[in-house]
Amino acid sequence: MKAAPFEYFRATSLDDAIEALAGTPDARVLAGGQSLVPLLNLRQARPSLVVDINRVGGLSFLREENGRLEIGALTRHRAVETSGVVRSAVPLLAEALGFVGHVAIRNRGTIGGSLAHADPAAELPAVMVALDAEFALHGPEGERVVAARDFFLGPYRTALGPGELLTRISVPRHQGGWAVEELSRRSRDLALVAVFTTVTMSGGACETARIAVAGAGPTPIRATAAEESLAGGPLTDDAIALAADLVAAATDPPGDLHAPADYRREMAAVLTRRAIARAKEGA
Ligand SMILES: Cc1cc2nc3c(=O)[nH]c(=O)nc-3n(C[C@H](O)[C@H](O)[C@H](O)COP(=O)(O)OP(=O)(O)OC[C@H]3O[C@@H](n4cnc5c(N)ncnc54)[C@H](O)[C@@H]3O)c2cc1C
Repeated sequence: MKAAPFEYFRATSLDDAIEALAGTPDARVLAGGQSLVPLLNLRQARPSLVVDINRVGGLSFLREENGRLEIGALTRHRAVETSGVVRSAVPLLAEALGFVGHVAIRNRGTIGGSLAHADPAAELPAVMVALDAEFALHGPEGERVVAARDFFLGPYRTALGPGELLTRISVPRHQGGWAVEELSRRSRDLALVAVFTTVTMSGGACETARIAVAGAGPTPIRATAAEESLAGGPLTDDAIALAADLVAAATDPPGDLHAPADYRREMAAVLTRRAIARAKEGA
């Protein structure tokens, strides 16, 4: 199938892009095109205008500043995955990116595109929720900053308002151990369930644990009850098993032809046990 007809506008500045988006309510942004182009070709998206942001300057960068990793929304997955700065400041992000499609997709796909697309089974939204990232959004009213936890509103729905663009992602540096555990039908498919975690230890006890799950609800799930159950005590097998049960209880997985809901919930617990055990080793 071919895309339905649409107007194409190649923006060369942020203001141009925002003006074009604000003037056409059903306009869509084109970044890497790895999700939008299939949606256009399947006619699941039929915008009257596509605003290409690939020539907008200042949206592709990667730097560490004041203990945070700052990432331009147009930065390609592969640039982030292979960056030494990212591997040292936020290694969970680099590891998670290795699970996003294949290298050809990561060469084109952008960090901002993955987040704005908000697929509940995608890795990056859950990673950003686990890491307490913040997103800068630019629109006709200027800039606002939204916490990753408040950005994802439902499957393919975000806090982006009319005429707004996601421009920058800010991720605090993390210390200690981390792990990604993902279950998918084929290598590098979207996750049936994936768990992302970081752990810091102090004097044999867990200081902090952060756990987020993809593929187990309409948005990424931050498992705060499980995190609280781990903090302050040793990471024994029993403590990890209790946390895994709490993660499963926090999920609200879909059942579909790929996997029933009960299976995803059970796998969320299994993957959490593995992820916490691995993160503890690295902490
Ligand atoms: C074969 C295949 C396998 C894949 N496997 C995975 C996988 O395992 N895991 C995974 O997470 N993804 C996977 N993807 C999706 C891929 O990661 C996409 O790159 C990503 O979802 C979108 O990034 P993009 O830059 O290509 O965005 P685009 O496709 O250009 O845009 C996606 C959506 O976001 C909007 N958008 C883009 N940028 C912005 C912005 N800066 N501000 C506001 N809105 C914006 C667009 O309007 C559109 O609605 C796969 C894709 C393919 C084709």
